Amino acid sequence: MIIQINKPFLPEKEAYNQLISKIWDNQWLTNSGPYAVGLEFLLKKRFDVNQLLFVSSGTMALQISIAALELEGEIITTPFSFIATTTSIIWQNCMPVFTDIDPHSLNIDATKIEASITPRTSAIIATHVYGNPCDIILIESIAKKHGLKVIYDGAHAFDVKYNNESIFNAGDISICSLHASKIYHSTEGGFIALNNHEIGGKIARIRNFGFTSPTTFKELGINGKNSEFHAAMGLANYPHIESIIEKRRSLTEKYDELLNDLSVSKPVWNNKGTKNYAYYPLIFNEEKTMLDLMDFLQKEGVFTRRYFYPSLANSLDFLPKQSLAVTDDIAKRVLCLPLYFDLSLQNVERICNLIEKFFFDAQK
Ligand SMILES: *Cc1c(COP(=O)(O)O)cnc(C)c1O
Repeated sequence: MIIQINKPFLPEKEAYNQLISKIWDNQWLTNSGPYAVGLEFLLKKRFDVNQLLFVSSGTMALQISIAALELEGEIITTPFSFIATTTSIIWQNCMPVFTDIDPHSLNIDATKIEASITPRTSAIIATHVYGNPCDIILIESIAKKHGLKVIYDGAHAFDVKYNNESIFNAGDISICSLHASKIYHSTEGGFIALNNHEIGGKIARIRNFGFTSPTTFKELGINGKNSEFHAAMGLANYPHIESIIEKRRSLTEKYDELLNDLSVSKPVWNNKGTKNYAYYPLIFNEEKTMLDLMDFLQKEGVFTRRYFYPSLANSLDFLPKQSLAVTDDIAKRVLCLPLYFDLSLQNVERICNLIEKFFFDAQK
């Protein structure tokens, strides 16, 4: 039997169909329809943020955020993230400047940010990797001192709390992805969260081509809106968020229990942050061990993923390549195990038994 690395959550077909059939009654397919507005309302309340804008993807959320903050020049960012964190900077005509990661949290090493600042630096874009909150306090103080903006890529961080409030309150802007591969999704989608009214208004205009009236455009906009069909998926999935996270918690705890004796490490969690169990990453001592295990599991029908590999700083042909000691080393040794709502505890046991067998055989 095949065990995939990830499987999107699907709501009951009936619940989704009921929502979809109303679209035929309303004849309202996109452009801030009732579902998109309703979803924004629910999420805004959930995270207690002042402004929340539903957009077509997490990548679009990043690009619009960069545009709305009028960033230019260099943006300090992490080489250990999904590629969209970097490409969105380039699409907005800025230059990514990579700062190495912290070997424990796997987030950008905030103590190294100041050394990357130049007169051209306009912002910091940091990812809460696997949902683990960045060193928000230090990043904020550096940003204040140097007059930089901060955008958090919270694509992994849905529902994570930091200091007892939603992590989406952090920075000038926080974004999230609602892609099907994430813990909570609207098929494709994302949102931008912030507390500044003026910038929120600007984001709303940029999302809609820059329209300020049917015949005037105040700024360079794009089509970043999302449809009623996508919002309907978000609404149909919404009542399941608690059970999705709870299921992932129980799978994670099962992995933790059964892999307890393994000589591998895990990212060290920010002690002010809660967990959402978005991923199950393991950091191996040696790349070779990890690759052999990956191969062994695949032959048994269990698919794992090197996430994130390779480092964004040394693998993109459209950027100068740069080595960063910690990132290069850790990216080679990280492996994410299967984790999704439909995964059974028995399958976690099966995966762990295989891993145990692999290490036992390797010792012989
Ligand atoms: C998924 C992801 C994105 C991109 O989100 P999309 O909705 O797929 O565009 C950006 N950053 C990180 C860290 C991600 O995991």
